[in-house]
Amino acid sequence: MSRTGILFLVSGPSGSGKSTLCRRLAAEGEAQFSISCTTRSPRTGEEHGREYYFLQEEEMVTRVGEGEFLEHAYVHGNHYGTLRSEVSERLAAGIDVVMDIDVQGAALVRACDDPAIRLALVDLFVMPPDEEELAARLNGRGTDSAEVIELRMRNAIDEMRHWPEYKYRLLSATHEEDYAQFKALLIGERLRVDRLKR
Ligand code: 5GP
Repeated sequence: MSRTGILFLVSGPSGSGKSTLCRRLAAEGEAQFSISCTTRSPRTGEEHGREYYFLQEEEMVTRVGEGEFLEHAYVHGNHYGTLRSEVSERLAAGIDVVMDIDVQGAALVRACDDPAIRLALVDLFVMPPDEEELAARLNGRGTDSAEVIELRMRNAIDEMRHWPEYKYRLLSATHEEDYAQFKALLIGERLRVDRLKR
């Protein structure tokens, strides 16, 4: 008996560790990562088609208009969005998909009228332990300017108010502890009867 895939939607402020958790899950072959489109510039070491599809604003807007996106949002001054092609066929084929998207995108996916998406959805909010630790993590990355860090800190505090909208919440501790809980949630969801194809 096969089953349909899980859409493991993960949100949380920059510095919560959610991206590392998502990437590790994909690297271990537990789920496939949904590569988002963005209009922001690549950071050092990022590659088109690996971390993101980096698009010019004009192309992004056109493709939004053509209905290619499952959701899209304006985050930290740039457009971000999930292509339907990253998600739908995989779910139908029983492949679990992990996506790292913001709280606005999460609300749009939850409100989606596609029953296959609603059945697949498992939404998790990753919370940093506290504001002090969050500031330390944002400063420690060394990839962003002071201005960007300040904007991300303000956005993070704002974003953290949204955790009650999610079905699951993970309070971040160490990476290993977080990952154990993260993977356990996915494994538990795989046992659900309503996703079995009989
Ligand atoms: P970053 O630029 O640091 O990679 O990501 C900034 C924010 O954009 C993060 O909160 C991330 O979750 C969010 N994000 C990444 N991809 C998407 C997407 O496809 N849709 C939405 N709504 N947010 C996204």
